[in-house]
Amino acid sequence: MSNSYDRYLGMHREITRRDFMNGAALAIGTSWLPRLPTWDSLEVQEPQNETGYYPPTRIGLRGSHPGSFEVAHSLRDGTFWDSAGEPVDTGESYDLVIVGAGISGLSAAYFFREQAGKSARVLILENHDDFGGHAKRNEFHLGGRLHLLNGGTLSIDSPTPYSTVADGLLKKLGVDPPQFEKKDVKVYRSLGLRSAVFFDKETFDEDRLVTAPGRGWRGEFDHPSEAQNAWKEFLAKTPLSPQVQRDISRIETGKIDFMPGLPSAEKKARLSKMSYRDFLINVVKADPGVIPFYQRQTEGEWGVGIDAEPALDCWGIGLPGFDGMGLDPGAAPHMSYSAAGYANGGFYDFHFPDGNASIARLLVRELILDAVDGHTAEDIVTAQVDYNRLDRQAASVRLRLNSTVVRVQNIGPPSSAKEVQVLYASARKVFRVRAKGCVLACWNMVIPYLCPDLPDAQKEALHYLVKVPLVYTSVGIKKWTSFQKLGIRHVSAPGSYWADVSLNWSMHMGAYRTPTNPDDPILIHLSRTPCKPGLPPREQQKIGRYELLTTPFEVFERNIRDQLARILKDGGFDPARDIEAITVNRWPHGYGYEYNPLFDPDWPEDQRPNVIGRKRFGRITIANTDSAATAYTDTAIDQAYRAVNELKES
Ligand SMILES: Cc1cc2nc3c(=O)[nH]c(=O)nc-3n(C[C@H](O)[C@H](O)[C@H](O)COP(=O)(O)OP(=O)(O)OC[C@H]3O[C@@H](n4cnc5c(N)ncnc54)[C@H](O)[C@@H]3O)c2cc1C
Repeated sequence: MSNSYDRYLGMHREITRRDFMNGAALAIGTSWLPRLPTWDSLEVQEPQNETGYYPPTRIGLRGSHPGSFEVAHSLRDGTFWDSAGEPVDTGESYDLVIVGAGISGLSAAYFFREQAGKSARVLILENHDDFGGHAKRNEFHLGGRLHLLNGGTLSIDSPTPYSTVADGLLKKLGVDPPQFEKKDVKVYRSLGLRSAVFFDKETFDEDRLVTAPGRGWRGEFDHPSEAQNAWKEFLAKTPLSPQVQRDISRIETGKIDFMPGLPSAEKKARLSKMSYRDFLINVVKADPGVIPFYQRQTEGEWGVGIDAEPALDCWGIGLPGFDGMGLDPGAAPHMSYSAAGYANGGFYDFHFPDGNASIARLLVRELILDAVDGHTAEDIVTAQVDYNRLDRQAASVRLRLNSTVVRVQNIGPPSSAKEVQVLYASARKVFRVRAKGCVLACWNMVIPYLCPDLPDAQKEALHYLVKVPLVYTSVGIKKWTSFQKLGIRHVSAPGSYWADVSLNWSMHMGAYRTPTNPDDPILIHLSRTPCKPGLPPREQQKIGRYELLTTPFEVFERNIRDQLARILKDGGFDPARDIEAITVNRWPHGYGYEYNPLFDPDWPEDQRPNVIGRKRFGRITIANTDSAATAYTDTAIDQAYRAVNELKES
């Protein structure tokens, strides 16, 4: 990239790059494991009790930020104990220690206190500098106003109805998704802004931005003929060849039975055994030129493209091509959890301005007196959180950040143990606490390193689930007149580095007000799912994780600037002038792995790796979405409830 292009992009502009060195210094080795800073080379982390400690406003490389994962990686590599000193005994003793302050860990604390009483002493240990896990809040102050976005977990949505437990918890927190859905004030619709597709020259031979056929990205038409005309009009403006245009039109608006003469159940069975890519090429007989247009349309759901997702699952989540096939509504055997749920109708779809970080804040408000102000599920959005109050000696619940748990052991044989010992590393020291029980609300893959005494079969099962890597980026811009001029609010970019670019969700909630004037600053959300088409999903995810951990901030930044400049150029966007701030939330360990009917065996329920992996081990139980082999907030809550109850029963 030339220096003058970098100047045009604004790579020289003063925005925070304090985490840049972490990425830039990395050498990409041939080994599978990224060579990252070792834990003993880390700067001593800022204590959470320091005045002004407020991680939601931190910018640069966030999500799994530098300083959060080095200890765990060193534990995995077998080097941690070489440089760890003798553990310092804190003398602290709790009724329960929880590992992980995501929705699952915080819910576990809530349920435990419901059962054991409010005076029960609970310690929550979290390796990141903020609580919430994936439910992370990105907070900006631009133009004298608060702007919020989700750094990870966005919605209270689920393919299946929330259980009584999960729904009950939301109700106790005052969250009423059907009522809250009305908070979306539909600013963009009132301004006539629509979705668009950006065709990039590297994939489609020229850069072109084309407004999408319908109101939403794929449609919302009152009549089929409307859809046909809209799609034809849209396709004619794209750089796609006439044959590819005809085939996309057939897929999107045709009513063709591609498996004539077969009953619905047989069609579904066949569709469950081929990828959506194979369906398009071999069954629909589409030109291979359609693939770049569709390849990434499953990434947001499962973290891999259509090469690795069954056609039946793609029908389940609403991808096109099946309208004339006479498939009976509803789930069928051999569908993934999400696809089966959505085929049956799905459930809630609501989110707070900062996503489910608001749920995490509501939970902390319940758990720790005076740490979070306000009283309602609406005022949580602008509530102040006093991080200095999260870990106070006198409090019954303590939440300790920047603390990576490195060992959890039953004291005595698991069958008769009455207590556990928990060791955690913080500020380059190892500390010891004791408790009557421990809930591991952390990720499955780390558990075998924390509990090396677990049975081998359980450790193997815990390792099976490879989490899905993702990046959600929040970019603050000075004004959004370029979007208004182009008439767009969301851009799908099938060939670009960032697959989706959209203006912030438009909602008013409590005292929070979404920007309504395009001359005012706004946040943009961009997402990327690093994967390697052609390989089995778990392999794709390992390669994606490697990519994320070894990508310097500068690369993310240049791609943000370049892509926004190219998409918005006819709207007058100037990347050097208009970009104010960037937060890259990288999640090398993102969504919990969901079984994929094309690649995973169809185990009986009790032999599924998540079921074997989550077995109680003495006074240690296991929560987190991995335990349900899905990636939804309701399951994070349900698994917490189960893990807390298993402790009670033991
Ligand atoms: C980008 C993204 C978007 C998502 N969007 C949605 C959505 O819209 N809707 C939805 O329902 N779900 C979504 N999810 C899924 C999300 O994972 C769950 O909804 C939920 O937030 C998971 O909560 P959890 O507590 O189970 O796990 P996590 O949020 O992952 O929390 C576990 C915590 O344990 C910590 N931990 C791990 N090891 C240790 C250790 N050794 N010591 C201390 N702490 C440790 C981790 O760092 C983490 O903070 C999304 C996930 C991602 C990554």
